[in-house]
Amino acid sequence: MNTFAQIHGRAPEGEWAAPGRVNLIGEHTDYNLGFVLPIALPQTVRAQARRRDDGLLRLHSTRGDGTVVEVAVADLAPGGVTGWAGYPAAVVWALCEAGHEVGGAALSLGSDVPTGAGLSSSAALECAVALAYNDLYGLGLSAPELALIAQRAENAFVGVPCGIMDQMASMCCRAGAALHLDSRDLAMRQVPVDLAGAGLALLVLDTRVKHDLGDGAYAALRAGCERAAGLLGLPALRDLGPADLPSALAQLPDELRPLVRHVVTENERVAEAVTHLDAGDLAALGPILTAGHASLRDDYRVSCPETDLAVSTAVAAGAHGARITGGGFGGSVIALVNATAAESVAAEVATAFREAGYATPRTLTAVPAEGARRIA
Ligand code: ADP
Ligand code: MG
Repeated sequence: MNTFAQIHGRAPEGEWAAPGRVNLIGEHTDYNLGFVLPIALPQTVRAQARRRDDGLLRLHSTRGDGTVVEVAVADLAPGGVTGWAGYPAAVVWALCEAGHEVGGAALSLGSDVPTGAGLSSSAALECAVALAYNDLYGLGLSAPELALIAQRAENAFVGVPCGIMDQMASMCCRAGAALHLDSRDLAMRQVPVDLAGAGLALLVLDTRVKHDLGDGAYAALRAGCERAAGLLGLPALRDLGPADLPSALAQLPDELRPLVRHVVTENERVAEAVTHLDAGDLAALGPILTAGHASLRDDYRVSCPETDLAVSTAVAAGAHGARITGGGFGGSVIALVNATAAESVAAEVATAFREAGYATPRTLTAVPAEGARRIA
């Protein structure tokens, strides 16, 4: 009766989940083809999906504006679907663009990933849809291949010039581990992170602010990095090692120097962090996180008063270290704390926010969770 089910032995419907992420260290390094170290969150975007053979893509989300968006897959083009529905539509478009024979689907989306909080709900959404389509249409694509499709969707259809970290984290992270990823060749290693075993906890403090200047600034920062690499005669800033940093800085105009210094030192911080994790010394990550925050604040300039206050308060309250996570200009801060101090550190940050007249931050506890998967 159902040809697809006969061929693939599985009904062309189901449910898929893809997680948000926090990045432990390695921020704004991915589009410079350097290193990152994300973990997946237990929070996921879930896609209930059913294949449709009439070529229509039907989208509904409990997080959207309540509307149902319906569009013919054959008509998908960048700019054609905007707002929240643009993200899932983009993935289907990117699959078609890459030459995959896919048709319609009914997608019903649910989520407990905070949106716009620097926890990468956008990539979680894209990856849930990409994995659903992979199964519904029997595409047989690997997790990194789906991550690249999702990144292309966000770059070319949604119009956000993001690197590959968010999509690779959502697709490829494993429970109990951080993903040590080389953004150039996508070589990756799962690095065990047993926070509970070390008596530690990773707090996520969502400041609940998102400064609008972030959208244009992100593209400008990326362009600045690419210009610096060009001036230095390098394919990407990833190719600049710490030993060559002083001479490289001397060759660059003033405005590009701090960008380059951040990228080079941040790549180094990823390597240091992995060394400590491999040695089982998780608390040693703390000062690396705080140094990363200073670099993002002073050199890369993507912090803001709210994230700076969350970091300084957490550290003063006894956190081993803290830093902004995600692209910046608001969003979330992570703080590595003794498990016994998690509540008091979160409470001190909430008090500092109240005294500063800021909205109450939302607090999550990050436990390294599993990447995108089929759940039904
Ligand atoms: P982040 O990825 O840090 O959460 P972005 O601005 O990149 O922030 O992406 C947030 C956007 O992704 C939302 O404004 C919305 O358009 C879309 N989005 C994320 N999750 C969902 C969802 N479950 N349903 C509908 N849209 C979603
Ligand atoms: Mg995003």
